[in-house]
Amino acid sequence: MHADVARLIDLQRIDSAIHDAERTLAGEPGRLQALDSRLTSARGEVDAVKQRIAANTAARREIDKDIALHQGRLSKYREQSMNVKTNQEYHAIQHEIAFAQNEVKSHEERMLERMMESDELAGALKAAESSLVTAQHEVEASKRAIAAEHDVLREKLAALKAERTSVVEQLTPSALSVFELVSSRRHGVAMAEARDGICTVCHVRLRPQVFNSVRRNEAIIQCDSCHRILYFVPPAAAPAATT
Ligand SMILES: [Zn+2]
Repeated sequence: MHADVARLIDLQRIDSAIHDAERTLAGEPGRLQALDSRLTSARGEVDAVKQRIAANTAARREIDKDIALHQGRLSKYREQSMNVKTNQEYHAIQHEIAFAQNEVKSHEERMLERMMESDELAGALKAAESSLVTAQHEVEASKRAIAAEHDVLREKLAALKAERTSVVEQLTPSALSVFELVSSRRHGVAMAEARDGICTVCHVRLRPQVFNSVRRNEAIIQCDSCHRILYFVPPAAAPAATT
């Protein structure tokens, strides 16, 4: 194989690896942000339940006051009923007593509902707090993994860039400039394997004489359609017959 073709294949491998590493690094802020949003939303769930618990507590306090108020009236009317002079007064006070009893009863029912709600909210708070703890642990672990991966990628990038420099130094300038030009116009993919007479990147069929030249891997030959530099991977030697 022509030395430049072999080095260009190598250069493409390095460039693609650099591209992948840089893309992963560029995605880090977004991944960290998503982790932070997960925590924010888990904290929001806990806060929302706490707010409902506060509202429930306030409502129960109000109902308690109402019950005390109507119970106070009730005992006052009962006392008064001992001292009524007329039938009319007696009926009037009985009416007040019945009304106050009803009020107490209906407030007690409301209280019961609020107490059931309070039990549910206590369960919901426990669940939300446990989800928050789980989220905190998972987010912490993910952040540690991202930080570790960051260091590995940085080292890998430095090594790839050093390797690239050494490959570039060995290339003839004309081969390098064709590679760089195609790479810049083709989203970083300057090389294309030719297989079965086809450019495997743009899928256009090559002219037979072009494919035949590419098979020899002895010159820089570009695809007529996508202009990528073509190379040929010889099929592995067929295993010898065993019979
Ligand atoms: Zn092509």
